[in-house]
Amino acid sequence: MRKYIFVTGGVLSGLGKGVISSSIGLLFKLQGYKVSLQKIDPYVNVDAGTMNPYEHGEVFVTRDGKETDLDIGRYERFLDEELTASNYITTGQVYWNVIRKERSGKYLGQTVQIIPHITDEIKRLIERPLEESDAEIGVIEIGGTVGDIESLPFLEALRQMKDELPREDTFFVHVTLLPRLTTSDELKTKPTQHSVKELRGIGIQPNAIVARCDKPLPESVKQKIGLFCDVPLQNVIEDPDLPSIYHAPLLMSEHQLHHRIAEGLNIAKRETPLQEWASLVHRVEHPERRVRIGIVGKYVELRDSYISISEALLHAGAHENVHADIEWISSEDLSKGCAAEQLHGLHGIVIPGGFGHRGVEGKLEAVEYARTNGVPYFGLCLGMQCAVIEFARNVLGWKAANTTENDLDTPYPVIALLEEQTHVTQKGGTMRLGVYESALAAGSISANCYGQETIAERHRHRYEFNPAFRDQLEAAGLRVTGTSANGQLVEIVELDGHPWFVAVQFHPEFTSRFLSPHPLFRGFIRSCLDQ
Ligand code: GLN
Repeated sequence: MRKYIFVTGGVLSGLGKGVISSSIGLLFKLQGYKVSLQKIDPYVNVDAGTMNPYEHGEVFVTRDGKETDLDIGRYERFLDEELTASNYITTGQVYWNVIRKERSGKYLGQTVQIIPHITDEIKRLIERPLEESDAEIGVIEIGGTVGDIESLPFLEALRQMKDELPREDTFFVHVTLLPRLTTSDELKTKPTQHSVKELRGIGIQPNAIVARCDKPLPESVKQKIGLFCDVPLQNVIEDPDLPSIYHAPLLMSEHQLHHRIAEGLNIAKRETPLQEWASLVHRVEHPERRVRIGIVGKYVELRDSYISISEALLHAGAHENVHADIEWISSEDLSKGCAAEQLHGLHGIVIPGGFGHRGVEGKLEAVEYARTNGVPYFGLCLGMQCAVIEFARNVLGWKAANTTENDLDTPYPVIALLEEQTHVTQKGGTMRLGVYESALAAGSISANCYGQETIAERHRHRYEFNPAFRDQLEAAGLRVTGTSANGQLVEIVELDGHPWFVAVQFHPEFTSRFLSPHPLFRGFIRSCLDQ
């Protein structure tokens, strides 16, 4: 069996198609189906590695080292499964493949065209993750909004698939927005009608409409959408603002979206055990305790830049029965000498990953505050590198210590370019990426959190802890508690005599899931509670 659920978007972007796609995937997984989730990003970029977090949010990294859109992270967090490079397609990748084939003579003599060559390649890439994971149901989300020029070849490929496959093998869910006019307090369906018209113009009739709205939809509005968009009334599903994104599968199941889809796909409607999920959602929405956690970063204006981190804190909190109230602190605003005032009262501090020199000095102020005041500190990637620099400067007195990313001439390059990176000139997909194993020191905070001494975590960096300074840093109290399997690269440092100071070169936030939070985030939240 192989069935395809396509999720398109209308009216405007940012409606939460990713949450709806993830919810659909989860509801079928819980019914016992083998599900594959895939995101199509119509950008010409080959992958998300070169995209600006200010505009697109976090770059998520898969186990096999693909730099993807943050929706892939959302899929993993909902499904509690590892996805791979195949679960992410961009226009750039499609054209790249086709052009490579053209150059190698695969289409010799032919005129290479959008239809059929590009659309054939799209169809091949849509099939690929289903084949690789032997999935029965593929949920494929098409990024952007119907009507965008970039998404046209993708929608055309979907139209072809719908016609080539038996009718009950494809199902189209269209996610739209119903704006409310504040003056008349009226919900307007016209933009939805127009986006469906646009979709039909391409040859696709949606089978269900998920309507984003601020409050539950009156029956009359659902009827109107059903009538004008030619969708059965029970397939018009309201999607009002929710207290948490993890509530969405509960709501979609209440409205039986999965059963409507199962009917359309002519597959069995099985029981969907949501109890565990629902009780965690209850904890998220009615926390018993709260802690204040500061995330000190450069991109705090766009919270999506750190979405895996805020979600990982939420997951750990849900399991520890505490809510992490996140305070977003711009590292550029942390001024010398005033950090104590600005960070006062936080129960824990996280410094996330980042690139370039901007904001680094502010991050060092935050590390110093956490280190000297016994405030739980969790450093992630650049946050680990900052912990090392701060320690070198303020404990060992190497005032000019730095990373060579920001100061090539520093006499104390405590963070320096990885050997394998010294000749890299190309951007995109060229960092140390994806999963690597590390060995943990017995008895360390990290080993205690993981409950094991060998771990595998995802990376995305070019610079590393410089082994030339390791002995001196360790002798002064910065303990290396995790190294690469061969012992060469430093993966984790901890601070002697501090309640909870753990800084890691990898990105644990990428593997935290709603149902199974990351052990280090759990340990961090527990130590924040002890504050
Ligand atoms: N800029 C640092 C490096 O390349 C850290 C990267 C990160 O935080 N993801 O090593």
